[in-house]
Amino acid sequence: MKFYSTRKKSPVVNFEEALFTGQAVDGGLFMPESFPQLYGGKSTSTKDKSYNQFIFDVARPWFSEEIPDEPLYEIIQQAYTFSPILKTLDRQTLCLELFHGPTLSFKDFGARFMARAMCYFHEKRQREITILVATSGDTGSAVARAYHRIEGIRVVLLYPSGKVSGLQEKQLTTIGDNVLALEVEGTFDDCQALVKKAFADRNLKKRFNLTSANSINIGRLLPQSFYYGWAVSTLLDAGYPKVNVCVPSGNFGNLCGGLFAQQSGLPVNKFVAAVNANRVVPDYLETGAYRPRPSIETLSNAMDVGNPSNWERIIRIFDHDPQLLKKHLWSTSVSDEETRAMIKSVHSSFSYIIDPHTSVGFAAVDRFRQECSPASDESFLILSTAHAGKFHDIVSGAIEKDFPLPEELQKALELPKNATKIPADFGALTDLLSF
Ligand SMILES: *Cc1c(COP(=O)(O)O)cnc(C)c1O
Repeated sequence: MKFYSTRKKSPVVNFEEALFTGQAVDGGLFMPESFPQLYGGKSTSTKDKSYNQFIFDVARPWFSEEIPDEPLYEIIQQAYTFSPILKTLDRQTLCLELFHGPTLSFKDFGARFMARAMCYFHEKRQREITILVATSGDTGSAVARAYHRIEGIRVVLLYPSGKVSGLQEKQLTTIGDNVLALEVEGTFDDCQALVKKAFADRNLKKRFNLTSANSINIGRLLPQSFYYGWAVSTLLDAGYPKVNVCVPSGNFGNLCGGLFAQQSGLPVNKFVAAVNANRVVPDYLETGAYRPRPSIETLSNAMDVGNPSNWERIIRIFDHDPQLLKKHLWSTSVSDEETRAMIKSVHSSFSYIIDPHTSVGFAAVDRFRQECSPASDESFLILSTAHAGKFHDIVSGAIEKDFPLPEELQKALELPKNATKIPADFGALTDLLSF
């Protein structure tokens, strides 16, 4: 498979190059030249297949030119020691739990595949790589855990001191080995500015073989399309005639994965993009004007994005045609108050505990049902993007009840924090890189 840039001003590249460069030289994002038709044929039935066997079947056509079957299966096996779980709440409402990986958010699916794929190509390249990431939460821990103990690759994480939750900080600073956590005396924007400056410094970039691992990397996006294939195929096999999929969204990478699966032939009736107060996308669908703005802080903080980076890909899929986009996508914005109320309501209706991001998804489906009157044979699959335990205070407050933390978080809490404090200063970062 070859990949072109959304801005169409850079050369077409193969997967390996797209993986290691992250972004095209013209500033655009990589897109596949075509979408292999994966769904609808016999080979993608989920019956009698493990999750990893299914993933292998749908991944093969994407990577066969560059990764032979055996190592591809190995990549999948090493990345996915866990799988998604489909929960049926009622006949029309299902939840796809994507939080059973080591850092308890869906980001483990993308990050771990990307890490193992890089490891595969890296073995041929024989040069130490440094992955540099600025993080405000879930991404950093998913990426760092994904690369933990991979030989020849080290990870340098920058996070803003005092600006991440205690739980998040423990997840970021207790990994160790080839992962260096830098606690930056500044804001998330300062961390991001340091990382950008490092990538812009050609000498530094070359000396340390700097690579990014952010959410625009195609190596993270493709594996995010596979769980849509698995879940929707499972539902179709089980006799659900029409499936709508709701995705709690921030940078729209997860939703973009769903649209990739649809382009590969997966029959999704409608996508519902659920956002919090950061409402640039629902406003665009309503007015036709795309107006990025500064982000607003909410309870679902991993979705606090004022200018979604994957939007450039999504409008490219639909040829910049808002009418075509609207045929497949509906979007709405959910307030913090509604988010809290929905956590409570889902708990009392189904005895099921959801996190604030997933709650935004449930609230969006509620509104879709009221405003769009879906047919009686339509069901809704809501992607659950994080474990409620990651947001313990908010969730226990909403359901007025304590609940146990998952084992992974308990363990991280007991380990000592191991971070190096640095000022928000470029010299301090380059000094540390030299170790
Ligand atoms: C990152 C994240 C999101 C948003 O995903 P995008 O791909 O950025 O749209 C939603 N929920 C959780 C828990 C996240 O960590």
